Amino acid sequence: MNQNKAYPTTVLIVDDSPANIVSMQAILSPLGCGLIAASDGEEALNLLLEADVSLLLLDVNMPGMDGYEVAELVLSNSRTRHIPIIFVTATDPHDVDILKGYDIGCVDFISKPVNPLLLQSKVRVLLEIVSSRERLRQVNTELSNAKNYYSSILSSAAEGILVVGLDGYVSFANHAAGKILRCRESELLGLSFVSMITPVGNPPPTWDQSIFSRKPHNNVSFRLYDALISVPNGTPIPVSLSCARLPGPTAGMVAVFQDISVTKTLQQQLQQQAISDPLTGLLNRSGFQKQLYDALERAKRLNTKLAVIYMDLDGFKRINDTFGHDKGDQLLREVARRLSEVKRSYDALARLGGDEFTMVLDNLKHSEDAARIAQKLLEALKPPYLIDDIKLTVPASLGLANFPNAGETADELMQAADMAMYEAKSQGHNLYRFYDENMEGKARTRLLLEQSLREGIELEEFYLTYQPQICLKTFKLRGVEALLRWNHTNAGEMLPGEFIPLLEETGLIVPLGRWIIEQACGEFSQLLPELRQYSGSEEPILAINISTRQFNERLLIDDLNKSLERHNLMSSQLELEITETSLMQDEDYAATQLHKARALGIKIAIDDFGTGYSSLAYLKLFPIDVLKIDRLFISNIHESQKDEAIARSIVQLGHNLQLDIIAEGIEDLHQHHWAVDTRVDIGQGFLFAKPAPHHLLADVIKKLDHNLPKTTDGNKPPTAPTTIVEKTSSE
Ligand code: C2E
Ligand code: CA
Ligand code: CA
Repeated sequence: MNQNKAYPTTVLIVDDSPANIVSMQAILSPLGCGLIAASDGEEALNLLLEADVSLLLLDVNMPGMDGYEVAELVLSNSRTRHIPIIFVTATDPHDVDILKGYDIGCVDFISKPVNPLLLQSKVRVLLEIVSSRERLRQVNTELSNAKNYYSSILSSAAEGILVVGLDGYVSFANHAAGKILRCRESELLGLSFVSMITPVGNPPPTWDQSIFSRKPHNNVSFRLYDALISVPNGTPIPVSLSCARLPGPTAGMVAVFQDISVTKTLQQQLQQQAISDPLTGLLNRSGFQKQLYDALERAKRLNTKLAVIYMDLDGFKRINDTFGHDKGDQLLREVARRLSEVKRSYDALARLGGDEFTMVLDNLKHSEDAARIAQKLLEALKPPYLIDDIKLTVPASLGLANFPNAGETADELMQAADMAMYEAKSQGHNLYRFYDENMEGKARTRLLLEQSLREGIELEEFYLTYQPQICLKTFKLRGVEALLRWNHTNAGEMLPGEFIPLLEETGLIVPLGRWIIEQACGEFSQLLPELRQYSGSEEPILAINISTRQFNERLLIDDLNKSLERHNLMSSQLELEITETSLMQDEDYAATQLHKARALGIKIAIDDFGTGYSSLAYLKLFPIDVLKIDRLFISNIHESQKDEAIARSIVQLGHNLQLDIIAEGIEDLHQHHWAVDTRVDIGQGFLFAKPAPHHLLADVIKKLDHNLPKTTDGNKPPTAPTTIVEKTSSE
């Protein structure tokens, strides 16, 4: 809008005398306005309708319509009403005429003959007025357009907009503000702004004290990303809010806010997801840590006790491997459900991943209360799980750490509970243990040993030795048992008793076990031609020890089969030595594994028989070929009549069930004679030979064979190998 721009003006001259028209045009032309003319009233009215006339110079005395009549018509028409009229009259106007003219609405009179200067200045002044009035009208239109424009913006904005006066009360609200706050816009007017916003103060501060009155200044807007806004008795709505000072004399502040309910809900859902375990709905690791921190803060403040429980299912991995992840997941959900039932409402329960669960027992009166809960948890987990008609028993191990005794921080407590859990696991199934300081030392040693075990595997420090087994009827070589050795860089030669349990616990026995199978088959197959020289008509047998963890590996039988094929061995040459404990864990599973092995023709020996549960039921239940009487019985045969009686009945029992019996740990001639007399089928022990690595084995066996009594017929009473002791003791 340019206010200085001259408005184009046009003067209409109405006169019945052409000379008058010409003279007036000449007088007015220097003014630069448009000039048009009409010679009578009718023509003038037509021109007025067509052109945009700014000023009318109207002759009073004209034939036909006189000036007054024309003026009356002009002023009665809304389109032309605003046009100023100057009457031009030849005669000196009487007062009456003048009054009549002013009555009608004319603005001025000028008499003929026209004084040019007077006419010019009158017309100039009037045109200026017309021009200003026109400019004003334009500005008005523009202003009202702008007003409509801005108010349509305000009312169609999705954000709520409030104007707050210097007094702190709402003086304007747009449509969206009402919609967001679920009320009419008018209800918002006059409300105190600070009392509408929740996180600002409780009780709300006065307007002058509020951040809104102090913060938004110098054109810098002030934001609250997370506020609640409400009307009296209304529901608080989560909003993000920005406030800016209003410039100019209106002053006050404009507050723009956006409803963030949806974002908020989503955010809450995400937060919930971030701290919970999708499988079980329990807390996850970070959720648990947060709860533990909070509980610790509380316990420190209120001087109360709490305990952390670490739980681990025994043998879960095997269930996962055997029955698939679906079943594994079902089981974990069921475990979570059982644990949740025992948990008190304010205890935090979490699954950290895999089969590891943790719990915070908050607000304990006595540390012993934790033991009660631990026992309840174990009881809850004890009954078998029925997963798709499959009955599974999954024992658990629990470790407990008390605050403040076992540690003061979340990390310390978790570590202590974890250690206690390991201790519980190492002592059996379905046990809980409290953390005590001795565990630290044990754990450190374990950790060091575990590290060097890994290194040992990498550096190929493990190797196999083979101990011969002798048929006690023919005194021929029956086969060899593969026994693991570890040639440790610093510690030197290590025996399996020192490291096998840890290999089991860490699961390292699985990869190493695979290596053992492959290595034993390879070395045994290389030695076969020589071994055959001493084994008579029977094919020599390779016995391999299979640990519980290994036995539980689904792929064990496949691995065995592959190694047999790779090294051209018959499956009937392979014997697996398994302990009763391995069979006990899950009878159905054990039976499946054993039948798979048996189907291939692999033999099964029960190792250390007599020391474990020695359940006779197992002997019937599983496809077994051999019983190995534990070394303890053999070494006690001459001292303990009881042991001798047990050993003797094992032999009888085994024979009744058509099993072969091996006596292991035969160290002297007495034991040897006892074995022969009792009709033990096979003997193994230092008396015959100590375990030897494969490159020495042929020599060892050759020497052994040399010292063994020669029989041509198995029924002939054997002669004691009197010279064996001296000849094989040099190892
Ligand atoms: P085991 O299966 O009962 O093995 C027999 C153990 O008795 C061997 O000990 C052997 O050296 C020892 N032995 C044999 N004859 C005599 C004797 O006359 N007197 C005495 N005092 N000992 C005798 P080793 O090699 O120390 O193995 C100990 C245990 O470690 C084994 O007991 C077995 O349970 C385990 N083991 C050994 N090698 C392996 C393996 O490759 N895999 C697995 N999973 N376990 C193994
Ligand atoms: Ca064995
Ligand atoms: Ca044994």
